[in-house]
Amino acid sequence: MTAPAHAEDGPGRVLELILTGSARTRTEIAQLTGLSRSTVGQRLDSLFDAMLVREGAENVAGRGRPSRALELNPTAGLLIAIDVGEERTRIAALDLSMAILGDRVAKLAVGDGPEVLLDRITSMLRELIAQLDLGHRPIAGLGLGLPAPVDYEAGQVRGWSVMSGWEGYDIRGHLRRSWPVPILIDNDVNLLTLAEHRRHWADQRHLFFVKAGTGVGSGMVIDGSINRGAQGAAGDIGHAHVAGFGDPQCRCGNVGCLESLAGGWALARDLHEGHDARDVAERIRRGDSAAVTALRNAGRVMGESVAYATSLLNPDVIVLGGLLATTGDDLLAGIRQVVYQRSLPLATRQLRIVPTKFKARAGIAGAGYLVRDHVLHPAALDARLAVGESPFADIVA
Ligand SMILES: [Zn+2]
Repeated sequence: MTAPAHAEDGPGRVLELILTGSARTRTEIAQLTGLSRSTVGQRLDSLFDAMLVREGAENVAGRGRPSRALELNPTAGLLIAIDVGEERTRIAALDLSMAILGDRVAKLAVGDGPEVLLDRITSMLRELIAQLDLGHRPIAGLGLGLPAPVDYEAGQVRGWSVMSGWEGYDIRGHLRRSWPVPILIDNDVNLLTLAEHRRHWADQRHLFFVKAGTGVGSGMVIDGSINRGAQGAAGDIGHAHVAGFGDPQCRCGNVGCLESLAGGWALARDLHEGHDARDVAERIRRGDSAAVTALRNAGRVMGESVAYATSLLNPDVIVLGGLLATTGDDLLAGIRQVVYQRSLPLATRQLRIVPTKFKARAGIAGAGYLVRDHVLHPAALDARLAVGESPFADIVA
């Protein structure tokens, strides 16, 4: 049995089958696409010419003689990932298999403004690429995560956020002067969501991610893709009101937001010590009982918001990440309790509520996936290969 041939079964689709592990040999590609063996050969030739695919060491048994497994050539291009935090920025170079070839962290404050910060990132990247001796490798693209709502198409910060002074700034235009490659810019929580889904839950269609750190945010994968909403503000759960817990002042100007009750900064305020999630996590690690109680209560408040989201989205899996989630199960337990209590059985029958599987560098992984998804998108790749363009811009840092 072979599937019918589709016009879109170009080289990009063949690469996708290889990349996802759906097909490893010419025979498997022919079976999955319905293409003839000679057409599969042509598709592969253009992928070999572009250095995107190679024959691996592994042999795959088939009906005839065993053949070498086809695999993505991870060295065909570099993915540059940038994870901008409120106080620290991490940069990394990844190969196409998502392996981190090298990374650097620097104390850079978003308060310094876009021009200073972006120029500093560019010089750090040049240094990193030189130190790794990767200047000869074409750069496939740059992915940038920001701790703010981002208009994804425009690549600009919108609305209130900790990135005051960045609203409407042409980040992509600024970076493109040094990096004439595809530049993808997204909200940091969307990138954590993407990383979690692509790396650990790719077989699930609907995932809801909650980041519990100094602030609170969420991201969602709906039917396999990140949902950003109309203006990039989808998932801004931290500034949705939660009733019944008093209405403390939030840093956004409203009162009674989830973040003002359960964010790391709010817990630090209630505990009269420190000012962010790091300070609270430190107290919990010391076994401070007031801090543990505060975190359990925060879990129940967060559970109210997550229960709404569960009713609305009916996810397969809810993943909890962020610094407060790394301190043990107290937060997760509170969320689970309220979600199962409040949601209808149909929505929770198969639902899993789990902590993130990333130990570190999830933001970097997310930025890498964002770029890779974009540059290896089958239609985009076919268009470039059809006009004989190299799959990636060849720039020297
Ligand atoms: Zn708020």
